[in-house]
Amino acid sequence: RIEVHDVHKSYGTLEVLAGIDLDLAPGTVTVVLGPSGSGKSTLLRVINHLERVDRGFVAIDGDIIGYRRRGDALRELKEKDVLRQRTGIGFVFQSFNLFPHLTVLENLVEAPVSAQGRPRAEVEVEARALLARVGLADKADARPRQLSGGQQQRVAIARALATRPRVLLFDEPTSALDPELVGEVLDVIADLARTGTTMLVVTHEIGFARGIADHVVFMDAGRVVEQGPPAQVLDAPTHPRTRAFLDKVL
Ligand code: ATP
Ligand code: MG
Repeated sequence: RIEVHDVHKSYGTLEVLAGIDLDLAPGTVTVVLGPSGSGKSTLLRVINHLERVDRGFVAIDGDIIGYRRRGDALRELKEKDVLRQRTGIGFVFQSFNLFPHLTVLENLVEAPVSAQGRPRAEVEVEARALLARVGLADKADARPRQLSGGQQQRVAIARALATRPRVLLFDEPTSALDPELVGEVLDVIADLARTGTTMLVVTHEIGFARGIADHVVFMDAGRVVEQGPPAQVLDAPTHPRTRAFLDKVL
């Protein structure tokens, strides 16, 4: 379960998140929509503690991100503990962000071994199964640059799963891909959605959102303007800004 509670974030005088509240139930898929600059990526980065909040908090299954409770007070986690906590949150970026000097298999094995301290042999077996799951069993020894964009993004998804995360975050996972490669990546994400993985997906693929989302959140100017089931937010939006946005992207 992802809880976002009254989260505020500013860069200088620019308020990018102006009080975000969300509660995402386990096993559900939430799609976040909104115009460029509305704060979608910042929200994901805050959930993953790549950015620190100015106010409010994010909790995953009750654990506050970036902090631990000490009596009534919150203590900031040490970098090493942040890294371990982050392994509970799979993050897939628009630009893949694979480690270029590592093989595909090594990309998957890195975090479970170094941040989670799991035995390499066991992790490798699981990593190969994940590669098979995204249709890339035969690419284990390839380098990222030898793969197509769609294949690289599927490796990135398998890598995000390798730490057995409690939630998966996707930030426009298909927007850097050539159009003919979008489908293979969306298929993998839809497959994960069907298996009950808790996911938060930022995407402009409205048809896809309608197909996989349990919940749709529309953001504008750092606020959640409207949220609800896809049939409501996508097909019968009540807020004029949601309507204006959908008219543009559909
Ligand atoms: P897009 O659809 O274009 O990806 P977005 O909704 O993901 O947009 P964000 O990337 O979250 O938007 O950015 C929200 C606002 O915060 C933008 O005005 C952006 O310029 C600003 N911003 C983001 N990161 C930083 C930063 N590190 N320093 C200063 N401003 C930032
Ligand atoms: Mg963004």
